[in-house]
Amino acid sequence: MVRIIDIIIILFFLVLSIVLIFKPYGYEAKKLLLVVEQDSYYIPFKPGKYNLYSQVEDIYGKKHAAYKSIDYIIEDEKVQVTHSDCANQVCVNTAAISKCGEAIICAPNKVAFIIDCKNILKVSK
Ligand SMILES: [Zn+2]
Repeated sequence: MVRIIDIIIILFFLVLSIVLIFKPYGYEAKKLLLVVEQDSYYIPFKPGKYNLYSQVEDIYGKKHAAYKSIDYIIEDEKVQVTHSDCANQVCVNTAAISKCGEAIICAPNKVAFIIDCKNILKVSK
């Protein structure tokens, strides 16, 4: 039954090509959403050491006033708060976040880091 095998091979390559075409879109771009009080914006998700002591530049280059005593690092696509002046230190003790929907919240400082993948997390103003 050569014909069935031919059809299977053709189907296989068809499926493979479809997968290869759509694969780049299959990766969800992870974005890092920073919430400071009533303000929320995407900040660069690039390795480095950062803080919120003064102004924070979002991914579009726009500057936002943060003025929070918070240090954070981005490493291996993970975000971790390394220092905060808050009393309970929950944010500092939160494990590094890397997956969609994960968040580090500092309630006393009204700051949150959220890994946003689908752009569904829109904080209404
Ligand atoms: Zn905190």
